[in-house]
Amino acid sequence: MDSCIFCEIGKHHIPGKVIYEDEMCMAFLDLSQTTDGHTLVIPKKHFHDILEVDEKTLSHMMNVVQKVAHQLQTKLDAQGFNIMTNMNEIAGQSVHHFHIHIIPRFSQQDGFNAIYTDRSKEIDLEAIYHRIMD
Ligand code: AMP
Ligand code: ZN
Repeated sequence: MDSCIFCEIGKHHIPGKVIYEDEMCMAFLDLSQTTDGHTLVIPKKHFHDILEVDEKTLSHMMNVVQKVAHQLQTKLDAQGFNIMTNMNEIAGQSVHHFHIHIIPRFSQQDGFNAIYTDRSKEIDLEAIYHRIMD
């Protein structure tokens, strides 16, 4: 049975600033606080990543993400959110227990930055489409 730091937080064996909890999942403040209110939503059961978690747990977690985001909008006056999950080291996953980041946004210089490079002039969109679909 896999176990890790987030399993331990889920069982209340390690303290966390828990802002939502039910039988299936938990939301607690990320220690790094990239922006005020930066929250992680985790399943209590250990899954490595978004491809491993079962459908029922994942859809429940997304409902909780929405609920918590409403709470952060109301209480912290968040102006928007980035909601993301990292899978594997290549994408920046450092804790190998599936989690969804809720990052409230207050301005474009508030501590979080996602850069989407525009590669449209360099790539062959048709070829990429066919690699996926063929
Ligand atoms: P990721 O890099 O997507 O795997 O995110 C892991 C996140 O977990 C990081 O943002 C860390 O700041 C956060 N983190 C690690 N340990 C703890 C902890 N004990 N309590 C709260 N957040 C944590
Ligand atoms: Zn775990």
